[in-house]
Amino acid sequence: MKKFFENLISLLFPPRCCFCGGIMGEGSKVFICKSCDSKITYTYEKHCQICCAPLKGGFSLNTCAFCNRRRPHYKKAFVPLIYEDLVRKSIIRYKFRGKISYSKTFAFLIADKIIGENFSEGFDIVTSIPQNPAQSFFRGFNPARLLAKEVALFFNAPYMDTLNRSFRSKKQSRLKYKERLENAKKSYSFKKSANIKGKIVLLVDDILTTGATLDTCAKILLDNGAKEVYVAALARTGYSPIINTLKL
Ligand SMILES: [Zn+2]
Ligand SMILES: [Zn+2]
Repeated sequence: MKKFFENLISLLFPPRCCFCGGIMGEGSKVFICKSCDSKITYTYEKHCQICCAPLKGGFSLNTCAFCNRRRPHYKKAFVPLIYEDLVRKSIIRYKFRGKISYSKTFAFLIADKIIGENFSEGFDIVTSIPQNPAQSFFRGFNPARLLAKEVALFFNAPYMDTLNRSFRSKKQSRLKYKERLENAKKSYSFKKSANIKGKIVLLVDDILTTGATLDTCAKILLDNGAKEVYVAALARTGYSPIINTLKL
């Protein structure tokens, strides 16, 4: 009921910036005000060509040490923003406080990143990381799925659910990378009714942290016939000294 009223209120009041809540001018389709646009950190500076991690300080390669050592199964990640300050607060409002209208602006940012990288292959299918069914029940929606559906519209590609998630999976944020990989392998499985044979798939999540979940799910899709898997998320954790200094 609370969500219903929130939706009603958002219809009655003018659109607001997704990051600061400031009122946007009429006719705005993307809800980021100029001030927030200058404050949020985009990943257009030098970043890893595979996982999109920021690369700093004279790092000479185009890919980070992490990807060089352990190349992900997905071909490339498209992530427009760094997960900090305004972005973090905005994603929390989207995921936990029912600000579902943000999905359109978030999807625009992802699509803009993909187009900005001169990616012209297109996608046959857009899909998403499923959340724990209990979370869907309590939230009333699945943030990654809604985001993926909006992204699909930009590329004229159909949205399809392709993965299952078990009820008992542990929360990834409490685990180390290797544990995350193991946990993700146990938590996700392929949805047998999905046909992805020979398809180029875009797999969407809201946040990329270590990438363990996205990579594990990309492998599941490849094992079940996908031709190529690309991944996308709205934001990723930022500069890590490990990514830039890890010995190859
Ligand atoms: Zn703003
Ligand atoms: Zn990388």
